[in-house]
Amino acid sequence: MGSTDHGDALQVLQRVFGYPEFRGDQAAIVEHVIAGGDALVLMPTGGGKSLCYQVPALVRPGTGVVISPLIALMQDQVDALRALGVRAGFLNSSLSWDERREVEAQFVDGKLDLLYLAPERLTSEATLRLLDQGEIALFAIDEAHCVSQWGHDFRPDYLSLTHLHERWPKVPRIALTATATEATRKEILTRLELSDGRQFVSSFDRPNIQYRIVAKKEPKKQLLDLLRGEHPGDAGIVYCLSRASVEKTAEFLVANGIEALPYHAGLDSSVRQRNQARFLREDGLVMVATIAFGMGIDKPDVRFVAHLDLPKSVEGYYQETGRAGRDGLPSTAWLAYGLSDVVQQRKMIESSEGDLAFRRRSQAHLDAMLALCETITCRRTMLLDYFSQTGVPCGNCDTCLIPPESWDGTVAAQKVLSTVWRLRNERGQKFGAGQIIDILLGRKTAKVIQFDHDRLSTFGVGEDLNESEWRGVVRQLLAQGFLAVEGEYSTLVLTPTSSEVLSRKREVKMRKDPTPTRSATRVAAA
Ligand code: ADP
Ligand code: ZN
Repeated sequence: MGSTDHGDALQVLQRVFGYPEFRGDQAAIVEHVIAGGDALVLMPTGGGKSLCYQVPALVRPGTGVVISPLIALMQDQVDALRALGVRAGFLNSSLSWDERREVEAQFVDGKLDLLYLAPERLTSEATLRLLDQGEIALFAIDEAHCVSQWGHDFRPDYLSLTHLHERWPKVPRIALTATATEATRKEILTRLELSDGRQFVSSFDRPNIQYRIVAKKEPKKQLLDLLRGEHPGDAGIVYCLSRASVEKTAEFLVANGIEALPYHAGLDSSVRQRNQARFLREDGLVMVATIAFGMGIDKPDVRFVAHLDLPKSVEGYYQETGRAGRDGLPSTAWLAYGLSDVVQQRKMIESSEGDLAFRRRSQAHLDAMLALCETITCRRTMLLDYFSQTGVPCGNCDTCLIPPESWDGTVAAQKVLSTVWRLRNERGQKFGAGQIIDILLGRKTAKVIQFDHDRLSTFGVGEDLNESEWRGVVRQLLAQGFLAVEGEYSTLVLTPTSSEVLSRKREVKMRKDPTPTRSATRVAAA
């Protein structure tokens, strides 16, 4: 049966989608699902996941039911399919009662090739009964990592997908994701009862993307240098953590002659849609956005993705940077990262509403991201390793191009940690990184005088390093878990491992932040 199906599949690919041949694992996946097999598909962004379920849905009798959390994109996806002559529809909360009834009737009458559903639909018995009334070709579970509680983007509604298999044991299921560590992968298999299915794991390597992580100094200016120096007139995405910084950064770029548009959830939906449409349609626009932007966006010539704030996880970083260079041409993934990022993220986790398990999970995700930032080895190898794939030093990331030096930061660490220790509980006062550094540098600021900190034995013992180097030391102590932040004022506090450093039981290796010259990074980008 397999080979005829493959013939049908190829015909569908050519006639409906207009592509001459399948790419990578697509042919094998499509054949497996058409034959009724279950599958877990891991493919990087831009790899071509959609065809893996769209083609089988068209070849197999009945409707392919696609579960996707990307509600905002369903209309676009369905429109694009209809333009190709595919009978597609969707059900989500944006539809009116009449519209919903019409889609439901089309499904029951067998007039749909593809039906897109928001995951929360499947928590309702009415939807399940509806699905019973039609013929289902397959279930496609998009963004399957959302079922994993260990993953970085858990969505409780996805847990209801466990029941699909119980209710429709004969319908093949294909779960797809562009981001899953080994642990997340295992959890997807268990939760979706997919262990008997086949796994198709593509390489996560994106060789055309140059990964660079730089020390944050004047982030907006650094960004401007990057855009002017290396990406004039190029389309790109700039990610910021907050809505306010999105607005400010977009204004800053516009004021400096760069065509930039803002995008965040606080903007009116018509503005969001307009900006998104312009970004997709026009050449050379820069989208300044929160991470609300980008999922499912298919723009091949995004030449750079810049992060002005630290992503919360390696998965998020990989997903966001993966939007660059889908056309395979050289592209830049650039992240500016500094002490304030670590403080802010550690604090956000510490003060979050989540339970202990949630905080631990967030902490582990952040630690992995910090390790990637602080590494002195190849970034790409480290990224691949995170997703349990192997790579060799790429020769094209910042650490390969300009290997950072490491140095023995044990003594510097002891200076910081003993200062923090001396300030603990002092008259109920709380001190952050700024005060610690002022003390080490022997600065008689008003706040130093006010608290008699010029009398501490560590006052002025840090004159061998400058302020930015001390910030690097504190950042790395936070990143490596030798320091923690606490409370509203981001007070620095010791951790259980601090004492090992203070008592000289442990060495602290640090990364010397390189100051890359532009010519060095240009070599590989050219
Ligand atoms: P993903 O969901 O994995 O990010 P998509 O399914 O959106 O990727 O596909 C990315 C791009 O690659 C789309 O523009 C798609 O049309 C194109 N594409 C996918 N498969 C093929 C193929 N076999 N031949 C040519 N183009 C393809
Ligand atoms: Zn490298």
